[in-house]
Amino acid sequence: MSDETRFQWDAMIADVAGGNEIDPYLQQAQGELRDDESVLQLTVSSNWAKNAIESRHVQKLHEWLHRYDPQRSWNIRILVDTAYMPPPDTIDTPADDDTLEMFDPPTEIAPQKVKRLAQRRQIVPLGADTGSGLNPRYTFDSYVVGSSNRLAHAAAMGVAESPDGSKFNPFFIYGGVGLGKTHLLHAIGNKTRERNPNARVLYVSAETFTNDMVDAIRRQETNHIRNKYRTMDVLLMDDIQFLQRKAQTQIEFFHTFNDLHNANKQIVLASDSSPHDMSELEERVKSRFMWGMVASIDAPEVETRIAILQRKADELLIEEFPIEVAEYIAEQVTTNIRELEGTLSTIYRYAELQGRVIDADLVREVLKQDDARMSEVGRPISAATIQRVVADYYRMKVSDLKGKRRTKRLAQVRHIAMYLCRQMTDLSLVDIGQDFGGRDHSTVINACMKIEREIDRDTKLAEIIVQLTRKAQNS
Ligand code: ADP
Ligand code: MG
Repeated sequence: MSDETRFQWDAMIADVAGGNEIDPYLQQAQGELRDDESVLQLTVSSNWAKNAIESRHVQKLHEWLHRYDPQRSWNIRILVDTAYMPPPDTIDTPADDDTLEMFDPPTEIAPQKVKRLAQRRQIVPLGADTGSGLNPRYTFDSYVVGSSNRLAHAAAMGVAESPDGSKFNPFFIYGGVGLGKTHLLHAIGNKTRERNPNARVLYVSAETFTNDMVDAIRRQETNHIRNKYRTMDVLLMDDIQFLQRKAQTQIEFFHTFNDLHNANKQIVLASDSSPHDMSELEERVKSRFMWGMVASIDAPEVETRIAILQRKADELLIEEFPIEVAEYIAEQVTTNIRELEGTLSTIYRYAELQGRVIDADLVREVLKQDDARMSEVGRPISAATIQRVVADYYRMKVSDLKGKRRTKRLAQVRHIAMYLCRQMTDLSLVDIGQDFGGRDHSTVINACMKIEREIDRDTKLAEIIVQLTRKAQNS
């Protein structure tokens, strides 16, 4: 691949990340824009990389492609090639062929018919809004209201209509994972910006806030970063539960909160548990969460699940989506809305690939496959599993990985384990640091970058990483 194409890919993913940290899965993929075919082709080294990109980034990549050339109907193709990680001209023939995955057939991700979609979804043009962290897809229009989220939705609308801190300040939303908290935060932000394009709105996760603060403290540039947060008209902070046990960040947050609140600026917070239940939060911070409005989102009842499926089918431009099918899926998938969406898009892709219509038979086939896959490899992998696998492989103790000793070999193995945690789990950098004896998140970043560089040069290490990945997946 030429440097030029590589450069374009880097620029594209930086753009897609919109100022946030770039997902290592994207960074490690090789991306090529095949103009003649209207295809963005990605090459990745494993199925899990492919799955991660499919589930997290396809939408954004499509939006980017649409902005790049709206006239065309783009496809995204992801190839799994285990020989990819090391550049092809440096790879040795693997000694033990069957320990490596063989090539996967390429998957064409169904074109999302972006042109028609764009009219419905109002994809924002490139550069229209950078820095607010808002996702234009998450709006009130695309939010289905049912009894499980009615109160939260109504309050969110109220806040978006008068975000001058006069209504509910702070507005605190809590509920289980995948139930629409993040969506509501963005919807408030998007609505605010729609009504007042000059409003300074910032969506940020508590994790990013923490990382920003930690970095600023280290670089002794806290004033700069404080100003960034304190000059907002609307601050939308997600996953507030993350602040628990982070005493220093809580203090910073407390001051930010007070400044904004005193200036009648709107604060909206989302968390996976109610303020009462966040035991590891300072009392004075907790009590402020209850000053304004607290609303919960519950798991959706079956009627709402059906309505959501119908809405999503509409967004995917699925032309025929029988009510029996919606009912069937809604009965099978009850946990949360993210899972509901994921199931529908799997069904959609399956139908497209096979050139079939979506009917009850097809849905049953897909759900059965899903079940089988879940019981094989669907278990989430924990940091502890990875540590054990890595320690076993190098004949060390897990306690060595967490300990303070820093011989060269030990440090290298520790870095490998950190790298795998970052790749294979959803843990944050801070959490990974904690799992390795309370190390700093920047240590984890450095470890990951180092291993990535080494993998590029060292075929042997690349193979070991593949092997360790499989071991962790299978254990
Ligand atoms: P949470 O932040 O609570 O974990 P999200 O807001 O990320 O959940 O929602 C998960 C997915 O479900 C998102 O894609 C979101 O758009 C979708 N979703 C959640 N609630 C609704 C709803 N009421 N109507 C339509 N889509 C929803
Ligand atoms: Mg969320």
